[in-house]
Formats: sequence, C-alpha cells, structure tokens
Amino acid sequence: MLRESVTTIKGVGDKFAEALALANIYTVEDLLYYFPYRYDVFEIKPLNELIHDDKVTIEGRVIHDPSLSFYGKKKSRLTFTVETEGVAIKAVMFNRAFAKKQINADDTVTLTGKWDAHRLQITVSNYKKGPAEEQASIQPMYPLKGELTNIKLKKVVSAAIKEYINDVEEIIPEEYLKAYKIPDRKHAILAMHFPNDRQLLKHARRRFTYEEFLLFQLKMQLLRKIKRESTTGNAQHYDPSKTQEFIQSLPFTLTGAQTSSLNQILADMKSPYRMNRLLQGDVGSGKTAVAAICLCATISANRQGALMVPTEILAEQHYQSLCDMFGERASIVLLTGSVKGKKRREVTEAIKDHKVDIVVGTHALIQEDVVFANLGFAIVDEQHRFGVEQRRVLRSKGLHPDVLFMTATPIPRTLAITAFGDMDVSIIDEMPSGRKEIETFWTKENTFERVLNFIEKRVSFDEQAYVICPLIEESDKLDIQNTVDLFHQLQEFYSSEVQVGLMHGRLSAVEKEEVMNRFAKNEIQVLVSTTVVEVGVNVPNATVMVIYDAERFGLSQLHQLRGRVGRSDKQSYCILIADPKGEVGKERMKIMTETTNGFELSEQDLKLRGPGDFFGKKQSGLPEFKVADMIHDYKALETARADAQDIIESNKLENDVKYKGLQKLLENDSYMRKKLD
Ligand code: ADP
Ligand code: MG
Repeated sequence: MLRESVTTIKGVGDKFAEALALANIYTVEDLLYYFPYRYDVFEIKPLNELIHDDKVTIEGRVIHDPSLSFYGKKKSRLTFTVETEGVAIKAVMFNRAFAKKQINADDTVTLTGKWDAHRLQITVSNYKKGPAEEQASIQPMYPLKGELTNIKLKKVVSAAIKEYINDVEEIIPEEYLKAYKIPDRKHAILAMHFPNDRQLLKHARRRFTYEEFLLFQLKMQLLRKIKRESTTGNAQHYDPSKTQEFIQSLPFTLTGAQTSSLNQILADMKSPYRMNRLLQGDVGSGKTAVAAICLCATISANRQGALMVPTEILAEQHYQSLCDMFGERASIVLLTGSVKGKKRREVTEAIKDHKVDIVVGTHALIQEDVVFANLGFAIVDEQHRFGVEQRRVLRSKGLHPDVLFMTATPIPRTLAITAFGDMDVSIIDEMPSGRKEIETFWTKENTFERVLNFIEKRVSFDEQAYVICPLIEESDKLDIQNTVDLFHQLQEFYSSEVQVGLMHGRLSAVEKEEVMNRFAKNEIQVLVSTTVVEVGVNVPNATVMVIYDAERFGLSQLHQLRGRVGRSDKQSYCILIADPKGEVGKERMKIMTETTNGFELSEQDLKLRGPGDFFGKKQSGLPEFKVADMIHDYKALETARADAQDIIESNKLENDVKYKGLQKLLENDSYMRKKLD
C-alpha cells in the first residue's frame, strides 16, 4: 500500500526513516514522488568538445599501471595515463588507494570527473572498468537533506519501485494522456527515477508538469465556484441602450480588448453572482474608459458606483475625466482627505441620500461615516496599492456590490492565473490604435546636459516633459531636498521660455492640484517630480520622461513611470539616467530599452526576481511545484487552466467516473479543506 510507512520498504530501518522524515518523506508514496531535482548527463564526447572545468566522461585504454602516493594523514593520490583518440590523458584519483589493484595496464576504463583542458587531465570522481555501456547516461540527482545521500536514495527508491510500483493509480483520464501524448502515472514515475531514456524522461516531466498544474487549477477554480455560489449578489438590471449611448458618446471607439473585457464585466453584473474580477491592462490601454462604462451601467440600474484610487492626484484626475465623460448624465463627487468638515458632511449626506451617483476618492471613501444608499459597483484602481482589509471594507459598503479590481502593473499572465486563480481575470492586451512605441534610452549621468537640451528641443515643438527624482519614502527629507535641488538646477538651466514645475508628496493637496493643473494646461513645460506621478496621471501632451537614478527603481515601477508618456499619437521618449553596479541592475536597464510591452517586461522581471519577490513574500501565496515551472511551462499552465475550467463547469468531477481519481485527491487535499472551513 502506498500510504504505508517507508519502513515497509526493504532496507529502510527506523534510523533511515528518520533521515527521510527530514525531507518530508513518510510514506511509500512520498518516496515515489520524491523526484530528482536535476539530472546529470554523462556523455562521451570527442576530446575537442570537452569544456574546461566541466564534468565529463571519457573512455580509454590504460597505458601503464597506476602509481599510488600517500600524503598527509591517510590521504592518497592515484595517477595513471589513459589513451583516447590517440591522446594521452592523465587521470588523478584521490583517496581511493584500493583502485590500484583494480586498474591495470591495457584495461579499458570509463572515467567521469572534472576536466582540465590545459593539462589534459581528468580528476576522477567515478570510474568503471570496461567501455561505457552506452554513449550517454543520465544520473538522477535527488534533493538532499541531513544524512541522505544520492546513492542511498537511489537504492531505496529502487526498492520501493520494485515492491510498489503496481499500486500506483492513474488519476488523469485517458483522453488527456492521449491528447497530450503523455505517459501514464506509473511509467512516468519510472522514467523520473530511471531516466536513461531522454525522450521518456522528457515526457514524464511533461506529465507531472501538467498534473501539478491541473490539480492546482482544479483547486483554485473549485474554490472560486464554491465562493461564487455561496455569495449571491444582486443582478443589476442595467439599461443596455443607455450604456450603448454612453459608449457612442466617447471621443474614440473601443479597442477589441476593451470591448471583450467590458462584455465579461457586464455579463457578471447581469448575473446574480457577486463579481470579483481583476481587470489587467498595460498603462494607457484604456482601463478607465471601461470602468466609466461600467459605472454608467450601474447608474442605469439605479445604483451607485464608487472608484477608489491610491493618491489624491489620481482621484482628482479621475474625477475630472469622469465629469468630462458623463457631463449631465451623472452626479459625481470627489472624496479625499482634503475634503473636510462641513464640506465632507455635505458630501456624505448626499451619498447617503442617493443624491450622488458616483464617488471618486482615496481611502477617505472607506471611512466609517461614508454610507452608500445603494452601492452596486465598486472599482479599486491600482489594486495592489491597497491592503486586503481596505478592499474588504469597500466591498462591505454595499449589499454585495460587484467589485472590479484594476491594475496596470502587468502581472505576468502565468502569475495572474495562478495567484488570482480564485478571481476572474479580464485582460486588455491591446493598445488604442495610433500609439507610437516609446523610444527608451539608457545613459549615464555625465550626459545630463545633453538630456536637458533634448527636453528643450521637444518643448520647442510644444511638447512637455517629466523629470523624475527617486523618492523611495515620502518621509525622506533628503530625497525631497534632492528633488528641490534638481528643480532649482533646471530653473537655472532654462530660460524663462521653459517653465519648470515642482511636485512632491509634501505639497498640500491644493498645491498639488495647482501644479498638476498648470502642467495639464501646458503652463508648466517641465515637471520635476517624485514618483507621486507614478500611477495613472494622464497628460497626453507630455512626450518626454526622464528618470534620474533609474537603478533605484524596479522594472514595473519604471514601466509605470514611462507610461506617463506615449499617451497620444505623438512620438514619446523615455530616458533612464542610471549607473547600476550589479549585473541585475544593468540587465534591468537593458530590458527597459528593449521592450515597452508591460507583460513581456513583467515576465522578465519575474525571471530576474523570482515569483516570491515579485509579489513580496507575504502576499504571494504562490504554490510550490515540484516539477512544473510557472515561467517556463506557462503554456502547460494555460492548457491545464482550460481543462480545469471544462472539468469544473461541466461538473465532471461528480458525474463522470473517469474523474474519480481526481475527485478523491481533491477531497483529501489539506489546502482545500483549510480554505473551505
Ligand atoms: P489606463 O487607465 O489603462 O492607463 P486610460 O484609461 O487612462 O488608460 O487611457 C489612456 C488614454 O487613452 C486616455 O487619454 C484615454 O482617453 C485614451 N483612450 C482610452 N481608450 C481609447 C481608445 N479605445 N482609443 C483611443 N484612445 C483611448
Ligand atoms: Mg489608469
């Protein structure tokens, strides 16, 4: 039985069982699924293809009996010469005096070890008398803990396989195995542990990659389904013709991606389920427009809408653009920290009395005194800037409102469908037409004057520029000083024809608003700013983004900043001023100059940082896969996701005996149990 203790395996005593326990191996099954983490390939190659310092395998004839010398305490060195391809190679073997008797002149031997190409010498770690059985052999390398060694593991795994392999049951229905040409579970396990056939090993790895993804996706989607069905919302009977009319009134036609995302959202609104959806789209892809249409729909159903954003500047700007889009069709209010006292009371009264259709605000709109008459649709922009609790509070402001989370931090598709597996995801992966690719340059600080001249030239064409100073913490006085210094420096550099503005988090809301307004009206041409303009700010006439000390930012932040330009049909530019010390820093700058596609960029970022780092360790909650790799195997992940969707939607788990194996596994899964408690 697979569920029995490892001690039932021949050769595994209590002591060895303890060692295995350290690696979380308790049962026979655990051991069968304890897969090698890599495979070393020993392949006999021609001498001229051997790489210095690599582990290599050679086959040759011993020219003379080995000579043995001792040194230190019980240390020995055995040396001999072998001939291969007519070349004499020196072989050195340490602390294996006993081999002297076994290796004799004229023997053919196969030696594996570290290759020294300069001295034509091999430091042998493994030898075998006789010729190599095959031209290549693949050695499984197991992850080791404590007392475990690779040799011991190989031995017990072999024993376990001998006794128990026939107990392994398939869980994936045969039609999938056939469709994907992947081996059954039993043969796949065999190939993982005895990897001598490369092709079989490859298929086995593909199988477990798929299996892991499928199980994971099934779990996530099952959870989502259960959540959906247990949290009924209200169907919103919006008026399609009013919604359509609103879309017609926009100064542009929606892109295909905007339309399909919108349709997904509207379908959710109509349904009695409570929507919990993530809308992803690169900066400038037009998420706000989609959000506005949803708000229009909710108003036509006689309900209220809320839009929560992370900064006052952004709230202000969204408020403005919503007012422009809606005109007389809606009553919209702004609720931020700067709306205080009597004014605030007036606003909150109006919200409570349903005299207001849409509230745009910062955290201020989730304070206790804000009570909605009938909140139907809540949007959280730049959702990653808010904590779980804040999002929950917003949701609780209405009776099961539909909630849309928006993010412009493109989360790699692979991560999105894993990390947000229990959320629905819509993706706007298309830019409005007519946009030109932003040209990105990376330069060192000593060219700063040239950069300033470049800005001046663009300004002479009636365009505008941002110059960003890194400010990691809003409270950092020194950084504020840097920004102010840079501001003065630029003021001095430019004649009065170029107006320079200053923006940072320490300015009051009124001051910020004034600066932004003047920039929007092109009264200010060059805006020196901290990253407060990072998210969402929309001044389409700005075409130059200069980022000072760019190495201090992460890739996604740089991408966000760059997204402040390229928002019209004019050619835009991004100039990164950076002198990164490390390789990763340099790589980042290079990637920035090579791609403007946010999704591609975030995939790269993910590769540089790893998934844990990408979300920050705590929030990640990402699963650890044994064989699968979310980044490299993303195609399999998408396949598994689609299959899981099909399985869940057509209730195959309960209704189709072929899915019993999967169902049983999910039923007993500890993660699922915990989540459903
Ligand atoms: P996001 O919030 O995704 O960064 P926005 O919604 O702010 O993007 O849109 C960026 C700019 O593109 C805005 O000026 C907006 O008016 C414009 N825009 C949005 N959708 C379209 C479209 N389909 N065609 C042309 N311009 C569009
Ligand atoms: Mg936006």
